Amino acid sequence: MTFAYISLGSNLCDPKDQLRKALTALEQLPDIDVKRISSLYRSAAVGPGIQPNYLNAVLLLATDLSPTALLDATQQIERNQGRVRGVRWGARTLDIDLLLYGDLQIDSTRLTVPHPRMQQRNFVLYPLREISDTNLVLPDGSDLDTLLQQCTNADLIRTEYPLLRI
Ligand code: ATP
Ligand code: CA
Ligand code: CA
Repeated sequence: MTFAYISLGSNLCDPKDQLRKALTALEQLPDIDVKRISSLYRSAAVGPGIQPNYLNAVLLLATDLSPTALLDATQQIERNQGRVRGVRWGARTLDIDLLLYGDLQIDSTRLTVPHPRMQQRNFVLYPLREISDTNLVLPDGSDLDTLLQQCTNADLIRTEYPLLRI
């Protein structure tokens, strides 16, 4: 069993509902146990063109799936929720990224872990900090509190929405 952190994001087709459905789908998988769920955060889209704001959350999972099997499972959930891959960083119904998988560092064609852009993303770092007890140390030795100090929370709002589980 390994602890893994994943991020959820949506900016199309009722994002709150998309995240709730994604959580339900994850909880139904036999090899995944959802341990912690962050609040929902609203962030401005960073992709091309004018896009709706995102809703984001981070989850802590305990899983028996390998990293690739976890990616397969999360990509299946994305497809089930109508994810269409068009332009890079375009608007989407659901995006699930694998942030951390234990202390593993992975660099394969399909998977880079830790997620290569997480260290600069406030919509990942803030919810991640919210659900980690201690100052997480990443496999490269960087730590979450230092990363947060270097990262502005501009355009990021922790929403009043109730936790996804409710
Ligand atoms: P970003 O990676 O910058 O957040 P994105 O989420 O929009 O962009 P996608 O189009 O969802 O990118 O994914 C492109 C590919 O990234 C996927 O097909 C997957 O194989 C690969 N990938 C590599 N590392 C990861 C990871 N840690 N989590 C999820 N996908 C990953
Ligand atoms: Ca992403
Ligand atoms: Ca992705």
